[in-house]
Amino acid sequence: MSKQIAFTIFFLAAIGVFGYTISRLRRFFKLTKKDFPLDNIPERIRQTLLVAFGQTKILRRPMIGLMHAFVWWGFLVITIGTAEMMVDGLVGTERFLGKILGPVYTAIMASGDVLAAFIVFACISFLARRYVIKVKRFSGVEMTPTANLDATVALLMILFLMVSLLGMNIAYVKLAGAEKVGVYPVSESLQGLVANIGGSTVAKLHELSWWTHIVLVLVFMNILPYSKHFHVFMSVPNVFFTRLGPYTKLRNMESVTKEVKAMLDPSATIEPQAADAPIPRFGVKDVEDVNWKNYADSLTCTQCGRCTSVCPANTTGKLLSPRKILVDLRHRMNDKGPGLSRDPQYTDGKALVGDYITQEELWACTTCNACVQECPVNIDHVSLIVDMRRSLVMEDSSAPESLVAMFTNIENNGAPWQFSPSDRMRWADDLFSNKAS
Ligand code: SF4
Ligand code: SF4
Repeated sequence: MSKQIAFTIFFLAAIGVFGYTISRLRRFFKLTKKDFPLDNIPERIRQTLLVAFGQTKILRRPMIGLMHAFVWWGFLVITIGTAEMMVDGLVGTERFLGKILGPVYTAIMASGDVLAAFIVFACISFLARRYVIKVKRFSGVEMTPTANLDATVALLMILFLMVSLLGMNIAYVKLAGAEKVGVYPVSESLQGLVANIGGSTVAKLHELSWWTHIVLVLVFMNILPYSKHFHVFMSVPNVFFTRLGPYTKLRNMESVTKEVKAMLDPSATIEPQAADAPIPRFGVKDVEDVNWKNYADSLTCTQCGRCTSVCPANTTGKLLSPRKILVDLRHRMNDKGPGLSRDPQYTDGKALVGDYITQEELWACTTCNACVQECPVNIDHVSLIVDMRRSLVMEDSSAPESLVAMFTNIENNGAPWQFSPSDRMRWADDLFSNKAS
């Protein structure tokens, strides 16, 4: 009973803190714009099954991809057992799902036990890739000591989560004997570890492992939203809300599209703007200009660096790193979001474009979409980069000289070149005169 009371208090406290974090994120989402289309639901479901659950993009790099995929699938299976532990802790039952699910329970426990051992191996490998092999894509200006610490803490927590789960299973197999519910291939094969230990000590090991596992789960749940590992929660919805259609097809700005349509259709009328309506801004200058999908992207970024590793601008030594764009957006919302959600007029004298992301970074993008194609959670860097450029051009009249010349030519000549429209066919003059002769 005292275990139940202690767990209930801890559980409610953890849920309370998690609830506060979610309400904070909800306030931040409310600061963003709503304009993101939610069409073609069947295609969205297909993408979610393939990319999020099937891990198809991760598996493009087979070795490390397979390891990550098994960690993710293991997480899904083990979560069922974790949910069961929480109900057991609250109600005072033990492995209550076993009686309900029967052979399905056996399959879940067996695969969870094997996957837990695999995840231990995977976490050690991931740490080695980071600190021994020093994989290049884990470095970069945005990979600050804090960002690296975040990754390390999360990996260590997952490692201890799995070790405690295995410890609990090993002890349970010994204590339950023939009465055990489920099958535990790894824990059964490791019975030699507790063969010479007395029953009361094994019972203590079971309690310690149970508490360690459940406390780590609830602490981890509360750390996640502040960590890059928030993708554990965000990746499935983010893939579902992916930008559909050809990568190269960018969305037009609604306000400009309306104006152009009105110009082409003299009978069209433009709705007059309300006198007290805020003056709309073109493009993205700061966090209040991004749409909710941009912000969701920034929360979903795993900081894996796959996007930056294929970015032609980055690999040719330019300042641009697509990963940094997402990291900066998340930081900017953390910095400005609290003030902005209290007072819509709040300003700290800074902006996302200029103070966090420089013009040089933005204009280095070739809009090739290699980053979008490579991102394992379907993040759309390019729409955000283009919207920030739109703000620079349309709000600040700021663009590289070569582009300003092109804009002038388009305005004057109807083409990016420096020739009059009347000279456009001159290249064919000789052609026709040769034919005539
Ligand atoms: S679209 Fe831009 S940011 Fe993305 S890979 Fe190409 S150049 Fe890099
Ligand atoms: S944007 Fe995508 S590919 Fe790039 S670091 Fe984040 S998760 Fe990885």
